[in-house]
Amino acid sequence: MPNIKFKIPMLDLKEQYYSLKEEIEKSLHEISESGLFILGPNVEAFEKDIASYHGVRYAAGVASGTDALNLALRAIGLKKGDEVITTPFTFIAAAEAITYDGGVPVFVDIEKDTFNIDPVKIEEKITPRTKVILPVHLFGQPADMDAITDIAKRHNLIVIEDCAQSFGAGYKGKATGSMGKAGCFSFYPSKNLGAYGDGGIIVTDDEKIYDFVKLLRNHGSAGGYRHKYIGYNSRLDEFQAAILRIKLKHIDSYNQKRRGIAELYSSLLGGAVKCPSGIPGTTHVYHQYTIRSPKREHIKKTLEDNSVASVVYYPVPLHLQEAFAHLGYREGDLPQSEAAAKEVLSLPMYPELEHEKVRFISEVISKCL
Ligand SMILES: *Cc1c(COP(=O)(O)O)cnc(C)c1O
Repeated sequence: MPNIKFKIPMLDLKEQYYSLKEEIEKSLHEISESGLFILGPNVEAFEKDIASYHGVRYAAGVASGTDALNLALRAIGLKKGDEVITTPFTFIAAAEAITYDGGVPVFVDIEKDTFNIDPVKIEEKITPRTKVILPVHLFGQPADMDAITDIAKRHNLIVIEDCAQSFGAGYKGKATGSMGKAGCFSFYPSKNLGAYGDGGIIVTDDEKIYDFVKLLRNHGSAGGYRHKYIGYNSRLDEFQAAILRIKLKHIDSYNQKRRGIAELYSSLLGGAVKCPSGIPGTTHVYHQYTIRSPKREHIKKTLEDNSVASVVYYPVPLHLQEAFAHLGYREGDLPQSEAAAKEVLSLPMYPELEHEKVRFISEVISKCL
């Protein structure tokens, strides 16, 4: 992001910190006194909290959302040459994780309205090498999991969910992350449930995946310097787990506030630009509030002139990224993703954003069109 100080930023974490300050500092102090910084009681308690929040049996904390994806894919046995069907309109992490063990991302175009992978276009991309479908619940809107699960069942594929942007989101009464073989979350500070550093977690009902991830995250070892696998150093630390446990108690209320802000934006902006709206049967958690307009650049510039931040998530779909040039995609291959990349703009969104500011931002946008 350019180094400009906006009067209204995309995200402001200070107020949430002030409201939890005493509890957080007390907890960090206790950990410091205990001397237990890695894989201690806070991680264990947080994993139990997260499993029960998602209605699944297991959760294993790891060092980041990217690692959650990598370890989950490794745990289901992804091998060199295996294909993973995923969306090109997202952050690069999932596609990177697919390649770590030699897997190949196969990009399928998105739905115009949800920005999520279009299930209708999945089957034509399935080959004998396809092993996994990896949907991303982008911006906090759950992907069409019934359709995706149905295709996976018919073709004997594994579903791994990227829930980095969808903590607390629901699909027909189920939490995102609880519908696939495994759900992968990030606690990067800006996520709906954010730590004060990096962190991630894998949720699953599958005991084998859980056991494997717990070994992998700790150098393939259950302890005693005996290593069953070549693993990683990928652990959630006690400080982060303690902060996350405190924040978890408030996450539903934070997400409710995001929905209130989204409703207000939509009621004020509807007509002028295309607004996101929760798909019936799903609970959107508005990690981002992302509008769409052919006049995106003009809107962005006008907001900047009024000291309001806005960000283009994402300007280049993954199939056209230099990093994936070797996959051989060309412009025009995935037209909905390419069109979205040209028109989207995410507006300031965080639970503490005052409604007065939402009104101001909406007025600036409406007036400039
Ligand atoms: C943030 C993010 C990730 C990666 O999480 P990290 O904790 O930063 O590694 C993966 N997928 C999506 C969609 C994300 O937004």
